[in-house]
Amino acid sequence: MKKITDTLISVDDALQKILSEVRKLSTEDISISDARNRILAIDLASRVTQPPTSVSAMDGYAVSVDDLATTPTSLTQIGVSAAGNGFKAKIKAGQTVRIFTGAPVPDGANAIIIQEDVEKSGDQVIVSNPVPIGKYIRPAGLDFKKDDVLLTAGTRLNYRNLALAAAMNLPWLKVIRKPRVAILSTGDELVLPGEARGSEQIISSNNIGLAALVAAEGGLPINLGIAKDNPDVIKDIISKISGIDMLVTIGGASVGDYDLIKSVLSEEGLNIIFSRVAMRPGKPLIFGMLSGFPMLGLPGNPVSAGITAALFLKPAMNKMLGAEVTSHVTETATIGCDLNPNDKRQDYLRATVSIGKMGETIATPFDKQDSSMLATFAKAQCLVIRPPFAAALSAGQPAEIIRLDNFY
Ligand code: AMP
Ligand code: MG
Repeated sequence: MKKITDTLISVDDALQKILSEVRKLSTEDISISDARNRILAIDLASRVTQPPTSVSAMDGYAVSVDDLATTPTSLTQIGVSAAGNGFKAKIKAGQTVRIFTGAPVPDGANAIIIQEDVEKSGDQVIVSNPVPIGKYIRPAGLDFKKDDVLLTAGTRLNYRNLALAAAMNLPWLKVIRKPRVAILSTGDELVLPGEARGSEQIISSNNIGLAALVAAEGGLPINLGIAKDNPDVIKDIISKISGIDMLVTIGGASVGDYDLIKSVLSEEGLNIIFSRVAMRPGKPLIFGMLSGFPMLGLPGNPVSAGITAALFLKPAMNKMLGAEVTSHVTETATIGCDLNPNDKRQDYLRATVSIGKMGETIATPFDKQDSSMLATFAKAQCLVIRPPFAAALSAGQPAEIIRLDNFY
């Protein structure tokens, strides 16, 4: 009987299996200054009301609209209200206070006249036109109030929500700790960029891309280097790993004589959950649990590694971080060329994106889709998804795509 782990499973099944094994990590408190791209662990309520008091939205004069019942009229300036240094007394009938943006509105005033709309003569301020109550005043709490819950667990901290958290007076934030993702390349043919290189050797590119993806996603990449295609070497490295949240191997995932990952890691206790996914590129994709942490064995071909990392490693990390899984979000585009019918594997075709005459998004796959071709991968703007057994498509017909711009 065929082993369950050798069964070819669908992309959706594979994703569900990964998400059901991977657990959210614990939390840590960090300074807001270090929180860019981190994921909030809890909902956040504001510690302050913003603005804390009514303030002016403009540079001008604070007035009572009752004084402007007939215009033009002349008011007497009795003081100045600056941001952080408000005018402390109350304005009485016929009086005004010079005021600047962000400065507290003095008692007795209920509107601001902008400075361009008055004429000044000594301490007299001549106002030509009336204004409605509240004009150019930001009331206390216009932005938000103390105890308002404005940010929720799972939010990735970017410019906007970091600035908001700062305005909420939250110098420390509880975030999910960074997943520690160990990355191991395998292959006798591989050297690092810049290393001495034999005539049959190629540069290990996948680990560089993967480390960037892990860091961008909010994790800590741990470089385990390049292992030779030798069971003892791989075993030695694996047996010494500790303190990681996930292991990612590259290469050696298929069924060739030198594809050692499955057998060697099984001997080390890997419980394989699946090892083949009905997709192209990326059929040999291993997922399992090794001493309590998830292990993802990516195929070696650079485009296969890149696409499987985006479709499976990213969501696994999102789950560890309690963040939203967005890597499988699709949109409909128009296909820019004819496509053949598909076989049983879900295809992810590298494609460019252009805008058609009617404003429609046109996705045009590259002619050559070999999974070793990194140059077209780098140039691609989207992946066109061809479901298993999809019928032939003519140019102009719709297809689902995943955009690559914010993807990685
Ligand atoms: P494998 O999965 O080990 O059979 O590798 C499949 C193909 O991917 C081979 O052509 C390898 O040379 C290539 N490959 C494997 N690992 C890497 C890597 N880290 N960087 C670039 N190419 C790789
Ligand atoms: Mg190999």
